[in-house]
Amino acid sequence: MGSATPADLHMLFFPYMAQGHMLPMVDMARLFAGAGAAVTILTTPANASFIRPTTEGSHPPISLHLIPFPSVAAGLPEGCENRSSLPSDSLRPNFYRALALLRRPFDEALQNLRPDCVVTDMFLPWTYQVAADRGIPRILFDGAGFISRCAEDALDRHRPFDNLPPEADSFVLPCFPHRIEMLLLQTMEYARRKPWPGAEEFEEIDRERKEVNPKNYGVLVNSFYELEPDYVEYYRKVVGRKAWHVGPVALFGRNTAEKTLLRGSVGADGSAGADKSLEWLGGQKPGSVVYVCFGSASFLIREQIREIAAGLEAAGHPFLWVVRAGGEEWLPEGFEERMVNEGKGMVIRGWAQQLAILSHAAVGGFVTHCGWNSTLEGISAGLPMVTWPLFADQFINERLLVDVARVGVAVGSTVNTLKAEDRTLVAAAAVEDAVKKVMGVEEEAEERRRRARELSEKARKAVEKGGSSYGDVFNFIQELLERKAKISS
Ligand code: UDP
Repeated sequence: MGSATPADLHMLFFPYMAQGHMLPMVDMARLFAGAGAAVTILTTPANASFIRPTTEGSHPPISLHLIPFPSVAAGLPEGCENRSSLPSDSLRPNFYRALALLRRPFDEALQNLRPDCVVTDMFLPWTYQVAADRGIPRILFDGAGFISRCAEDALDRHRPFDNLPPEADSFVLPCFPHRIEMLLLQTMEYARRKPWPGAEEFEEIDRERKEVNPKNYGVLVNSFYELEPDYVEYYRKVVGRKAWHVGPVALFGRNTAEKTLLRGSVGADGSAGADKSLEWLGGQKPGSVVYVCFGSASFLIREQIREIAAGLEAAGHPFLWVVRAGGEEWLPEGFEERMVNEGKGMVIRGWAQQLAILSHAAVGGFVTHCGWNSTLEGISAGLPMVTWPLFADQFINERLLVDVARVGVAVGSTVNTLKAEDRTLVAAAAVEDAVKKVMGVEEEAEERRRRARELSEKARKAVEKGGSSYGDVFNFIQELLERKAKISS
């Protein structure tokens, strides 16, 4: 690359506006800026206010380039610019409509900024063509891990559903590095048969995502080699695409920990509930608390919230439970107050500072919905987990935690769906049982804890100088600089 330095590479990041996508992509932008690349983040005004606290004052500086979000034109309330801040799931179609209207402002931004590459989210597949028309390579930011992309490939390639006997209720992923068996109800194929609001628009985005996948220049994955080596290899060799593993992105720059830990500290719904919870954690014994959170996008029905309440209390370990806005009114009468008074647990309403909580010494286990970010964050924190997937890739992430890494205990969630009312209820006894297994002192629990600690050590090493993710960040920069030099010569 001659005398070129990372600063000669201008990367434009365009995150999808949902917390589970925006937070890791902004972390990724920060890590490339930290590696010396010139970084701009393209976003909209309301989303900029979530991003700014983590990018302000960064060295080298990260620029924010703003384009308007067509909330009103798409029938959304004014200022509603993030999927996580939709007042109701029924507005999903409007949100998808608004995204489609960003094509022109995105193109204008490319024309003005002339980046050397754009890194855009999997759910903004149209950015591929807009960038290609301007001769700019599009790098896919895939919010999922390697294993879920490999599973998607294995299903498309081998079509196991075509040959199942009619009475079958489960299947084994064909030609896969590990023996992974799933219920048919746990697959996206099943989820698709039960449409949710916006399903049609979403399917269109997903179809286009798959269509442009082979055309992208490559993909940046928030994962690390040592977590899923077989799947990194499968992705590169069988799927046959260029991929760089640069995660866990939330671990990079832990020396600037405060910023990372507090990222997204205000939820897209405006709530910020963690200060008191950190104080509460401070009064708990090391490793004694189980932290419970279902991510930024999931709703649970009233009966499920009540079963969780009963299960957590019966398990008898102090708990810190995030109940999303809207769900707290379904808690059993007087439950919160009683739990605090009896020293049994605490409920966070709305948004938690998850990274700060997971890395707190008092936390000893994590009940997670297995969103990819939470999966990685639990692994990075070295915690054994109770796995409770709800939809999309969360079910295959569960298999990674339970069958491959063996740091998880499944609670027994069986239906892949966004619609909370279509799920089978997980009983209090199952919650109690899984929490007791994970938080217990039996040999099996100790072994699980030991594996979790080992994996977290590997995660930390991956992002340090000489580590696998650290190396891939520079491999990526070098390749893109070489491409740039070739074009301009
Ligand atoms: N998160 C958080 N506080 C919350 C809920 C979620 O900080 O109360 C963060 C969490 O740390 C993770 C992201 O939001 O980085 C959620 O992403 P994930 O992929 O786990 O799930 P999704 O929200 O996309 O279902």
